Amino acid sequence: QTLLITGATGFIGQHVLQQALQKGYNVRATVRSDGSKSKLPSEFDSAISSGQLTFDNVSDITATANYESAFKDTSHPITGILHLASPFSLNVTDMKKDLLDPALDGTRAVLEAAVRFGQGQVRRIVITSSFAAILDLKQGYRPGYTYSEKDWFEISYDEAAKADSTTAYCASKSLAEKLAWEFVKQQKPSFDLATIAPAWVFGPHVGGLERGVDFKSLNESSASLATKLLDQKDIPPIDFGAYADVRDVALAHLLAFEKKEAGGERFLVSTHFDYQAGVDALREALPEIKTRVPEGKPGAVATKEQVYQVDGSKAEKVLGLRYRSLGETMRDSFKELLDSETGK
Ligand code: NDP
Repeated sequence: QTLLITGATGFIGQHVLQQALQKGYNVRATVRSDGSKSKLPSEFDSAISSGQLTFDNVSDITATANYESAFKDTSHPITGILHLASPFSLNVTDMKKDLLDPALDGTRAVLEAAVRFGQGQVRRIVITSSFAAILDLKQGYRPGYTYSEKDWFEISYDEAAKADSTTAYCASKSLAEKLAWEFVKQQKPSFDLATIAPAWVFGPHVGGLERGVDFKSLNESSASLATKLLDQKDIPPIDFGAYADVRDVALAHLLAFEKKEAGGERFLVSTHFDYQAGVDALREALPEIKTRVPEGKPGAVATKEQVYQVDGSKAEKVLGLRYRSLGETMRDSFKELLDSETGK
């Protein structure tokens, strides 16, 4: 079977790519440019030389026609699409150009391309949504509330275009996911849809980090975790109160493609996270980091009287996903930072 993966060069995308190849899928990855492709580490070399992994340049993900060659030039028909490409940067100035339009028009283009070029062979599209599409930002910490797949972040495009970058990013995910569900409802294509909605995604990068990399230049979630905790004095306040390990998020994408029951479903893939809980788990799992991260008040993790909870159990029940422990995620996230500093 051949999967088309967009955003395969990204933090989550590389794990999805790696697991898809390990499972034996042929993969067609769309990349924005050769520069993006060169971000892939040597872990992928053998799949490239064997032809299991091939690429197609899609310089503008918002143009449906750009996908034609990705469908045409494969030896086996594409039966599934994992759509991850979407901007995740909070350091932007033009909300429309930098966040909303690529997310919305990029999602529309992938769906249209599957209809137009897929020759009826595509049976499911898995889209990376986000807890950002679920969390109602206007409600703040919302003590006592439990978020699940039933919830939506309700906001209009025009409101989002004038908002701050966090709000606009959350809106880009919510509006893009809504657009996708509406598309399949209206068009009744050959494929159905499943969406994966993680909150903060942490964990190691495929192949580790380059020596001496500037942590601020990493993908948004990894940069945020590193800069908020490493060599800082205080425990930061909760921003998104949930997280998932990148390896679990990647597996969820593949399971959502494979499991029949996942069709037509959205999955919140996350468990509780706050920085005190993260630091407590990290200090235990990686003792050598103890002097580099704030101690806070060990054990004083946020309760449901202080902040909303998330219910990520549907992914366990329907997909059979087992969440890694916070200790494992934190250890592997910070171990690679230390290794990058020392050049290991
Ligand atoms: P990265 O920034 O590491 O990867 C983003 C990927 O999308 C890259 O492959 C990038 O291509 C591509 N991309 C971004 N913007 C565009 C664009 N305008 N046109 C074409 N391609 C683009 O981020 P993540 O791996 O963290 O994010 C992947 C997906 O997961 C996104 O949909 C994001 O919203 C979602 N997500 C991430 C979370 C997190 O905490 N990391 C949480 C919840 C959801 P290129 O290599 O060319 O830059």
